[in-house]
Amino acid sequence: MENKLYFYNSLTRKVELFVPNEDGKVAMYTCGPTVYHFAHIGNLRSYIMEDLLEKTLRYLGYDVKRVMNITDVGHLSSDADTGEDKMLKGAKREHKTVMEIAGFYTEAFFNDCAKLNIKTPDVVEPATNCIPEFIHMIEALLQKGYAYESGGNIYFDTSRLKDYYVFSNQNEKELLIGVRDDVDEDENKRNKSDFVLWFTKSKFEDQELKWESPWGMGYPGWHIECSCIGIKHLGEYMDIHCGGVDNIFPHHTNEIAQSESYLGHKWCNYWFHVHHLNDKAGKMSKSKGDFLTVSLLESKGYDPLVYRLFCLQSHYRKPLEFSYENLDNMGTAYEKLVKRIGSLKKEGQVDQEKFAEYREQFEAALCNDLNSSSAITVLYDMLKADISDATKYALAESFDEVLSLNLTAAREAKKADNGVDPEMERYILEKIEERSAAKKEKNFSKADAIREELLQKGIVLEDTRQGVVWKVARTD
Ligand code: AMP
Ligand code: ZN
Repeated sequence: MENKLYFYNSLTRKVELFVPNEDGKVAMYTCGPTVYHFAHIGNLRSYIMEDLLEKTLRYLGYDVKRVMNITDVGHLSSDADTGEDKMLKGAKREHKTVMEIAGFYTEAFFNDCAKLNIKTPDVVEPATNCIPEFIHMIEALLQKGYAYESGGNIYFDTSRLKDYYVFSNQNEKELLIGVRDDVDEDENKRNKSDFVLWFTKSKFEDQELKWESPWGMGYPGWHIECSCIGIKHLGEYMDIHCGGVDNIFPHHTNEIAQSESYLGHKWCNYWFHVHHLNDKAGKMSKSKGDFLTVSLLESKGYDPLVYRLFCLQSHYRKPLEFSYENLDNMGTAYEKLVKRIGSLKKEGQVDQEKFAEYREQFEAALCNDLNSSSAITVLYDMLKADISDATKYALAESFDEVLSLNLTAAREAKKADNGVDPEMERYILEKIEERSAAKKEKNFSKADAIREELLQKGIVLEDTRQGVVWKVARTD
């Protein structure tokens, strides 16, 4: 690994050199979706940028194991342990069972991911698969004195920790305002920042999913699931934990509190957070009702990969504002880019020296706090450079392992469209131009010879008022 990856660690609030626990291996965890509705394109911004991180790691040669949970229970409509269970809310809205809702929206989520070329993590685990593990961890926390029972629920006791607010850009006073403002403040809590590990007595009598536990029938809190699923699949030491910035508090703060109290040592070294996609009205959110989805963009004629490019052109640590105007500009840029790459002659010798030189530049951009827009600039520079088509094509193919914009696959797709591959198309267009020039010079025999040559290749030229058009000759 020539290039060393640096990225911003929210825990230390610094851009840091990434050094995994085990040489060459990366244990990576991502907070998965709460599957009570479609993912909006804001959620998907987080997943696109996390996909970029994973693919950059793989490009640099790391062996990555990536785990993602699916939140199908326990995430309440307020992150402060109050409000209705989001899953139950979704089920009521659609007159379905919670499990039906979970199944439907999990599939919808991965369909959207596929359209955006987001790789499915190595392990995907729904929370409802892991109830015994949650109970085991909560029992251990009770035994160690980090948790207490009150009013029937089990709470984590944040006063036991020296440093609960580990992401200390979080101002304790500010954080507590959110809790205080909440009319449903939970009187069972010993400290305002305590949070629920297991609900038994809750105000949601109609909670559909409940399990036996040592504390009675109930269900887990949201935070415990990520601690447990992470430890279950990645062991006691995690290298990178990802999520959107809204996950920093309380979700990730609580995950660290539970996991480190349970394990008795530091859990995860690097915390990677993606800033929000906003629309003109502010942060995009599912609970706002009307939100932008991949299907909506498709129904308006956008290729989902144009949205991927839109995200990659901005830095993950900056809020991004969505507008159709910006997306349109991105669409034009994408089309040109794919066309440019599609017109490259793929055959021929790859200049290994140039290949290594540009790959090095591309990696360096990504290693600089995942600067994807600079990486794309390297792609553009490379396409303009004085190097062979075959080298350019090989580089585009290589960069696309990380960018995942179908840069070279689009060429094949085009062939399927009209039965002619881009190289042939380019050749036809060149010949048409040559023929027009010959006609202008009144060299009609040359013009006819060109028409004949194309016909031999199965291409028919027609002179129309709008100019020359070409067609694939009918074979019947
Ligand atoms: P959820 O399905 O609500 O649990 O959220 C899934 C992921 O999307 C989490 O990592 C959130 O932090 C992230 N997220 C939520 N809203 C946005 C947004 N507007 N922009 C970017 N990421 C978001
Ligand atoms: Zn999580």
